[in-house]
Amino acid sequence: MRMQAMIIGLFLGLTTVPIPALANDGQTAPADTPAECRTDTARIDQAFPTGAYQSCDVTGNKHFRLTIAPEDDGDINCSAWYAFRVNAARKTRITVDLDYTKCGHRYWPKTSTDGVNWEFMKPKYVKVEGERGERTARLTLKVDETPLFVAAQEIFPPSIYEAWLDRLEQMPSATVSLLGRSAQGRKIELLRIADPNTTPRETVVLVGRQHPPEVTGALAMLPFVETIMGDSEIAKAYRSRFETLAVPLLNPDGVVHGHWRHNTGGVDLNRDWGPFTQPETRLMGNMLTWIENDSARDMRVLIDFHSTNRDVFYTIPDELPTDPELFIKKWLELYQERMPDYEVNRDARHTEGRPISKAHAFDVYGAPGITFEIGDDTDRELIKRIGRESAIAMMQTLLETPEPANPALSDR
Ligand SMILES: [Zn+2]
Repeated sequence: MRMQAMIIGLFLGLTTVPIPALANDGQTAPADTPAECRTDTARIDQAFPTGAYQSCDVTGNKHFRLTIAPEDDGDINCSAWYAFRVNAARKTRITVDLDYTKCGHRYWPKTSTDGVNWEFMKPKYVKVEGERGERTARLTLKVDETPLFVAAQEIFPPSIYEAWLDRLEQMPSATVSLLGRSAQGRKIELLRIADPNTTPRETVVLVGRQHPPEVTGALAMLPFVETIMGDSEIAKAYRSRFETLAVPLLNPDGVVHGHWRHNTGGVDLNRDWGPFTQPETRLMGNMLTWIENDSARDMRVLIDFHSTNRDVFYTIPDELPTDPELFIKKWLELYQERMPDYEVNRDARHTEGRPISKAHAFDVYGAPGITFEIGDDTDRELIKRIGRESAIAMMQTLLETPEPANPALSDR
């Protein structure tokens, strides 16, 4: 049942173009990478982007123990990321125990030999001591001379985003620019989507990957963005009226280091919207301020892509007036109509001043803020459909909102 092959690639058009996810992007091995461990049979290492374990111990010629720990001692969510590579001398089986210092096993292990095609491990090869929350998992791996990657979710490092943006940039409606850099100097890129022949005055903001292990949110964001860039009539109409500013990878350092939650400053970026103490979040704060101060622009919606244990939209409640009025209610109703065999979940609440993206968008700008959550285990084909259909519903809902008469005059 868990068995599933998937491809991370580009969803543009009808083709899927594989991307060398594990290509050396100049950020291969963080300096603090612990040593590999090795026997006559196999060698285990984590010297690739997203590679992460705290330590590796040899417990037998074919047995290894990896200690899995969060990136720092602060409070942290139980998103216990791990990723490692096995090089074997010959075809054999090994066992790898994942020993968690905190929280326990959460993510069902996946394997890949090329970083593009991933397989969920078969249940008979994964022994978790009890259910989610237990402290150990034993993986039995069939290995040979081909390096085998084993990870908590599909490995989705900066190189995939770069290849994706390179492809998108070929399209007339896209412009890619450098928004800024992370604490460790990695690129944080901004994708602007708009009809090049018009000057849209209404702005939709998308952001992704504040939390490194939340790969399923990214797997939804890519088709979401591509749908906005598509050839449909609705996408063309949307792009002539709205510009989309998308920052798909806000925490590249955390992703490369295989963090559970934080950036390299030990901060949960989605608890820093408002204070903006971190270089990554400050880029978003500055961008929103710039939109607000530009009399020819109005922010209409902010959507922030994440992952949790189920598909759910965390939203501002309908009782709180947003501009556009009741956008979230209308959007999700339309989206539900487009997904008749699927239940759209919404959890509406708001705590004023809470330093998360959706609350900040509402508190400061009166805009509907949405945290778009995809379940860790949601079927990967379904995720693509979720991304596409929710994007179509968003575009249609926005096109039905009244156009601001002249924001340049009405702004202030
Ligand atoms: Zn998250």
